[in-house]
Amino acid sequence: MKFLADIMLKKLCRWLRLLGISCIYAGDFSEDDDEIIKEAMRKNAVLLTMDKKMYKKATDYVKAFLVTNDDLDGQIAEVLKRFKIKISEVPAKTICPLCNGKLEEVKKDELTKKEKEKIFPHILETHEIFWRCKKCGQIYWKGTHWKNMEKRIEKIKKLLN
Ligand SMILES: [Zn+2]
Repeated sequence: MKFLADIMLKKLCRWLRLLGISCIYAGDFSEDDDEIIKEAMRKNAVLLTMDKKMYKKATDYVKAFLVTNDDLDGQIAEVLKRFKIKISEVPAKTICPLCNGKLEEVKKDELTKKEKEKIFPHILETHEIFWRCKKCGQIYWKGTHWKNMEKRIEKIKKLLN
């Protein structure tokens, strides 16, 4: 299942990707309602929006879901619930939050010299496993971000019960 998130739902889109769910972000290509709906049709994606007008218009053409929660945790939970998606293993199935590309696991020795230069030395020293985006090349590791992410996932899991 693939989603297309409306302009207002950038954070939700990034979070779906982190959870391994493919999501196109409308802001990456257009702000025009019709263009956004057309793209959802082309990509066969479920449109996520908070805009009631947009939602009504879209349902004539594509599958759409009206997001009603204002807070991020609630939004993630309502999408997971509605589409019966289980939270998959992070980061094994994580999708690049920046570009929606697939991540591959790489060992420290497999990083190129250029990639190593972009990573702080203390991170390189303390981590053995990294993840590289196959599309944009971004490198990820289990840092502090990760711990925050795990905390949020725990919160979302509680909302799902
Ligand atoms: Zn990427």
